[in-house]
Amino acid sequence: MNKDTLAISCPQDEETHLATLSVHAGRMVDEATGSVALPIHMSTNFERGQDEGYPKGFFYSTFGNPNRAWLEEAMVKLEGGSAAIATSSGMAAIACVLSVLAPGDRVLAPKDLFQGSARLLNDQFRQWGVQADFFDPRHPGELESHIRERTRMIWLDTPSNPLLRISDIASVSKVAKAHRCWLAVDSTLATFALQQPLRLGADVVIHAATKFIAGHSDVVNGLAVFREQSQLFKSAESFRANLGAVPSPMDCWLVHRGLTTLWIRIQRQSQTALRIAEWLETRDEVDKVFYPGLQTHESHKIAREQMDGGFGGILAFILKDGSRSATRLVNATKLFTKASSLGGTESLIEHRSTSPIQILGNGTGQQIPPGLIRLSLGLEDADDLTRDLERAFEALGQSQTA
Ligand SMILES: *Cc1c(COP(=O)(O)O)cnc(C)c1O
Repeated sequence: MNKDTLAISCPQDEETHLATLSVHAGRMVDEATGSVALPIHMSTNFERGQDEGYPKGFFYSTFGNPNRAWLEEAMVKLEGGSAAIATSSGMAAIACVLSVLAPGDRVLAPKDLFQGSARLLNDQFRQWGVQADFFDPRHPGELESHIRERTRMIWLDTPSNPLLRISDIASVSKVAKAHRCWLAVDSTLATFALQQPLRLGADVVIHAATKFIAGHSDVVNGLAVFREQSQLFKSAESFRANLGAVPSPMDCWLVHRGLTTLWIRIQRQSQTALRIAEWLETRDEVDKVFYPGLQTHESHKIAREQMDGGFGGILAFILKDGSRSATRLVNATKLFTKASSLGGTESLIEHRSTSPIQILGNGTGQQIPPGLIRLSLGLEDADDLTRDLERAFEALGQSQTA
């Protein structure tokens, strides 16, 4: 289990597909017992050798443990990177990536940045002298005009949560290079199964593994994968240790298991999302549907170019008569669970603007449209989910005429 020999015997050549790698990367049959499932090593500390060294490459779990190393090894392979960090949450991964910025530096982020990232920039990084500027990802031509002298990083969320906006990673990466900025992409809604930001020029890709990657609504975890073993990676790795924002071995094991089924889960979730999005567009009660797989989505063409295998399991929509009906609709579904978060096997529905986190505000002044309903599609039958929504719409109509 020496760290150097962690490169597991995954039968791999140039033609090996990522779906195959996701089953095998970072895995091997356990030498000590022959167990096929990875063992979980809960130990916080590791024995030193005669020479005072650490013969197996681990000394204290904050700095590394076998389950975390296997998961990181798998992620490096799957994203085509050079180094990875697994963290205690998606937010911890984001904070670790931002830690490379020094006082006076600026980060350029989309206006509909994930609310947690926006709060982190506003509540902590601003007081440390790091300023955030915001651009509209729907107008990529304007990106360059927002770059200032000290802009050191461009941040993208694509598809974004919960407005499902799409940023063109390859073209933004050209701008980032021209201005010597790091390009960071939060790819939580797509995952490596549908989108590969490092191969499109990003310097780091971030995941809330809590969502689709772990995939069962039972673990909070984050991942960041770096194109090079750069200063960006070194800063993130050091901040994780200094902050102690490390995931438990058990959580790493759960996330690693999630990798093996991600492909079939997210492809199925994407098919269901597309079907329901198309169906919602036909409903009289619905004003607008947000889903990058729809022909009517403002950035469908870019989404089709940079995503492969589906457009993800998340969609949002707005009802014609806004917030009041939204509350009634989310209370009328039976199969959809009314809850926050996303990416699990069970379908979820949420009236976003009433979530505690939205009410908190994010410091950017950006507001989620009041009637916005977000769906996270799970693994139920798409017909059953559609019928559940249909019944909820009918109940809405009845209570309106009553
Ligand atoms: C949930 C989420 C995060 C934060 O992840 P946590 O594990 O909850 O800290 C970051 N980015 C996006 C897009 C998310 O959906």
